Amino acid sequence: MAGKTLMKSAKSALSGLQCAKSTVTQMRSFTSRLNEQQQAIQELARNFANEQLKPNASKLDLEGRFPFDHIKSLTDLGLMGAAVDEEYGGRGLDYLSLAVAVEELSRGCASTGMIMCLHNFLYANLVNEKGTPEQKEIFLRDFTKGAIGCFALSEPDAGSDVASIKTTATPDGDYWILNGKKSWLSSAIEGSAVAVFATFDPSLRHKGLACFLVPMDAEGVFRGKKEPLMGVRAVTACDMTLEEVRIPRSYMVGKAGEGFKIAMEQLDQARIGVAAHAVGIAQAALDTAMSYAKEREAFGKNLTRLPSVKDRLTDMCIMIETARLLTYRAATDVCTKHSSMAKYVAGKNAAAVADHCVQILGGRGLSTNYDAERHYRDARGTQIYGGVTDIQKRLVGHFLLKEHEAL
Ligand SMILES: Cc1cc2nc3c(=O)[nH]c(=O)nc-3n(C[C@H](O)[C@H](O)[C@H](O)COP(=O)(O)OP(=O)(O)OC[C@H]3O[C@@H](n4cnc5c(N)ncnc54)[C@H](O)[C@@H]3O)c2cc1C
Repeated sequence: MAGKTLMKSAKSALSGLQCAKSTVTQMRSFTSRLNEQQQAIQELARNFANEQLKPNASKLDLEGRFPFDHIKSLTDLGLMGAAVDEEYGGRGLDYLSLAVAVEELSRGCASTGMIMCLHNFLYANLVNEKGTPEQKEIFLRDFTKGAIGCFALSEPDAGSDVASIKTTATPDGDYWILNGKKSWLSSAIEGSAVAVFATFDPSLRHKGLACFLVPMDAEGVFRGKKEPLMGVRAVTACDMTLEEVRIPRSYMVGKAGEGFKIAMEQLDQARIGVAAHAVGIAQAALDTAMSYAKEREAFGKNLTRLPSVKDRLTDMCIMIETARLLTYRAATDVCTKHSSMAKYVAGKNAAAVADHCVQILGGRGLSTNYDAERHYRDARGTQIYGGVTDIQKRLVGHFLLKEHEAL
């Protein structure tokens, strides 16, 4: 009797498994939930990543070289300014399309994916959504055609603590004069303009901030040397000094006092992008681990048939799908809680997935002749740039308690 019951439940479990198998196949790329346009962008970015990025990612990383050719090709594909209005040379895509593109590009080359992600989410979208028509003519039109835009919020003494920004903005007739030091500007060495956040009254803390669009060739703008990075090594992050930089009043985005709100709204978007970037890196790590495990034999079997390796691959798959679902949800229903939750989970999961990948490759996991160690290094930064993981958790907690009137 017990045997029959066992057989019955085994059969029903198996039919459940078969059912689940077809669902998993569909869910692998979330294709079933993407509309036609989003699927087309996914395919475009995936093909480009497979043909152009993946074969060159390791070399770019080793040389720590900015991928000019790739960025030029992405411009030609309409992906540098993908969510910008068509009137200004963009494609007018939604955030989910953009996130899907970032994911696929980061799967091919984390550095190129990050450069494209930050140009779009931190600069182009900001000017597109908050700029005046005059600002869009000067600071947007060319930025869908090859010019690169940057975002200068962080400072040597103010990273997570944005309200402590020390860069000053002083009114002077029709101008604002900017003075201070910014740090960690991605793509600033190649960039043509930057959104700079400065305080016009430090005593007002976050209420004293304003956002300015600054041409990189403005007098008094000095850029530092490329920061040598552990991962995403082809990204050029550097510091920037502003010495008596005169900026026309019309280059201020929004009003004086709105800088903090503008920065936070932009970071809500950028966290969707960084989460998608983390999902792409994690997927690349699973791809690497899977193809290695299918080939490598130990104890007379392929690694995939060893329970511990199968468990690791399964954990990797679950972590990627969890992060992807949260990222796509954040991209379609944008709010701080969703984007912080997506970035928190995607960053942590990418690091854990890349760690499994290194382990599955054994000794080769540590060799620069294989991709695993690069994925491991690339994954780590996704818990830092765009806002550290610790802050994302605090933000989710804040909104959770707010929803429950428990603050
Ligand atoms: C490759 C790269 C590219 C970047 N690109 C840009 C860019 O283009 N533009 C830009 O403006 N910035 C950029 N950044 C800067 C990045 O956003 C900051 O490094 C990040 O916000 C953290 O700031 P911080 O480094 O000053 O760390 P800190 O703020 O000093 O934090 C250090 C650690 O302290 C803890 N901590 C701090 N505050 C809290 C808190 N309230 N609650 C809990 N824990 C806390 C966390 O563990 C945190 O990791 C980039 C950074 C890197 C590495």
